[in-house]
Amino acid sequence: MTPEKVLKQHWGYTVFKPLQREAIEAALSGRDCLVVLPTGGGKSLCYQLPAAMGGGLVLVVSPLIALMDDQVAAAREAGLAADALHSNLKAAPRREVYANLAAGRTTLLYVSPERLLAGDLFDLIAPRLILAAVDEAHCVSHWGHEFRPEYRRLTEALDLFPKAARMALTATATPAVREDILAQLALRSPAVLVGHPDRPNLVYRAFPRRDQFKQVLETVRRHPGEGGIVYAQTRKDVERLAAKLKAEGVSSAPYHAGLNAGERRKAQDDFVNERLDVVVATIAFGMGIDRSNVRYVVHANTPRSVEHYQQESGRAGRDGLSAECTLLFSASDLATHRWLAKKDVNLSPERARTIERQLRDIGRFAVSPVCRHSLLSEHFGEPYPADGTPAGAGGCGACDVCLGETKGLTEEEARLTAKKVLSAAWRAEGRYGTGYVVNLLLGRASERMAANGHDQLKVFGLLKEAGEPAVRSWIDQLIVQDCLEVTEDGEYPLLRITAAGRALCQDKGMVRLGLPAQPAKGRKKSKALKNAPGVFLREDEELFEKLRALRRSLADKAGIPPYVVCHDTALLEMAASKPLTLDALLGIKGMGEKRVEKYGRLFLGAITALPDVEQGNM
Ligand code: ADP
Ligand code: ZN
Repeated sequence: MTPEKVLKQHWGYTVFKPLQREAIEAALSGRDCLVVLPTGGGKSLCYQLPAAMGGGLVLVVSPLIALMDDQVAAAREAGLAADALHSNLKAAPRREVYANLAAGRTTLLYVSPERLLAGDLFDLIAPRLILAAVDEAHCVSHWGHEFRPEYRRLTEALDLFPKAARMALTATATPAVREDILAQLALRSPAVLVGHPDRPNLVYRAFPRRDQFKQVLETVRRHPGEGGIVYAQTRKDVERLAAKLKAEGVSSAPYHAGLNAGERRKAQDDFVNERLDVVVATIAFGMGIDRSNVRYVVHANTPRSVEHYQQESGRAGRDGLSAECTLLFSASDLATHRWLAKKDVNLSPERARTIERQLRDIGRFAVSPVCRHSLLSEHFGEPYPADGTPAGAGGCGACDVCLGETKGLTEEEARLTAKKVLSAAWRAEGRYGTGYVVNLLLGRASERMAANGHDQLKVFGLLKEAGEPAVRSWIDQLIVQDCLEVTEDGEYPLLRITAAGRALCQDKGMVRLGLPAQPAKGRKKSKALKNAPGVFLREDEELFEKLRALRRSLADKAGIPPYVVCHDTALLEMAASKPLTLDALLGIKGMGEKRVEKYGRLFLGAITALPDVEQGNM
């Protein structure tokens, strides 16, 4: 059978996503390869399909034990003989896995790195192994953000299977990480397949943080009944935001390392199984989250790097439907990250420099009035749009800048405004905090200011018209552009002009400033349904909800997450096209033979039970 036929039969898809075919061909011809595809790019299929071709065993090394069982369940739904070996496995199922392996039944085996390194699997897998896939391969790299020492030893283990092809997969696309993976996993003249990092279905927004909870709630309210993740910086932030959301009647729960394992597991299970809409979490949450219909990710605080942001926000919209990523920025978050990093007494100067660079990059990403899709692509070394042609007048149409929610000041306006802010900071001589400088610019005299005579300065009230949120945001924007800096003086953070800031006051250098438009009222509702095939009507929406409920109950019974039964995309297509036969159901994207056999009649039942389906659409 051809790979195309296997794709249709097992997964119900008709075309490969970019680079899938190339990766599969490499694997089938015994060639090593590195696959870099963004989240949702379809990496798992690259090693699962060779397993479905029936030529032998495919081994998958994955660091995410929490995810393995779901991945195995999903592979089985697609009709693969899949198993997993990891430390959470009880004795009985473990024996079954070994029996399957010994009998040569298994075609896809997930293992944790520790399990592979233990060395006792060799005899069982060596004779049939055609491909060893290393998922989340960036974990071998010091340059990445999730270095795992045991990953460094994988090559020892892989060398025991010289005939099997190797496939390394990651979503992290920085060149340094890529090079490190190639070297550390000793890939032998590999095919290097690097996809474009852009996620076109994500709408990125980055705003200055004004009223954290209000801004979070605004996004949550746009997505009633849909899945979302709110990331906050500290446990206290998490607890506070979660409590407030609950008080607003939002189905939500907190998640952070300070909760006990049971509470954490419950929050995660409830979220994955769609019993819970929103998880408010520190970055401790997410590694084990494969829910494909997360419709939004809000960062209530600034993440610590663009890489982290890409990964955390990337948990939205894995199913390819539209999803929203909102980042609330404040320069004070960067200071907190810096402070937390410095608590580590073993922090090397090299690592400290990396952290500084990462904080500067995420700060620039968040405050530059430049298309977010293009900033992200460029950060990962790729042009935007992918083919390099300039975006049209509407830009990407999927970020706050291109949607006109954030306005860039003209070069002249930006320079003038920056000079006003900077001269106030200059006059304050680095002896006061941000609040003082803000008040100075807004013309709000305090007793202290009067005593200093600062209310007599020319800068006093110079930006009165602009208002406090804009002035605060400009200060943040100047900090990330290195024109201002915050220094610690024992207790208080002080705002000070830098050499670059002074140069700018003398018209040397260049600066970019943006201005958030007024909070848009009634901004468009969630657009997930907009991506549905054909025209989506009110009745279709009802049917979609009905199918979703059916899927939830099927998943409950089978003890697997709903997205493993099938994706929202498949339900949307069913709701729009209303197939009436099993054959027609096979034509729905994502409904392979196994799924149709297992669930087809039940879905058809739900579709035909809808009164007047045909007339309803007229
Ligand atoms: P990644 O691991 O790269 O984040 P996944 O392997 O989870 O991505 O795949 C993301 C989604 O894309 C899944 O819902 C998967 O079923 C779907 N998918 C994979 N390959 C195809 C394809 N060829 N056509 C359509 N959908 C696909
Ligand atoms: Zn844009």
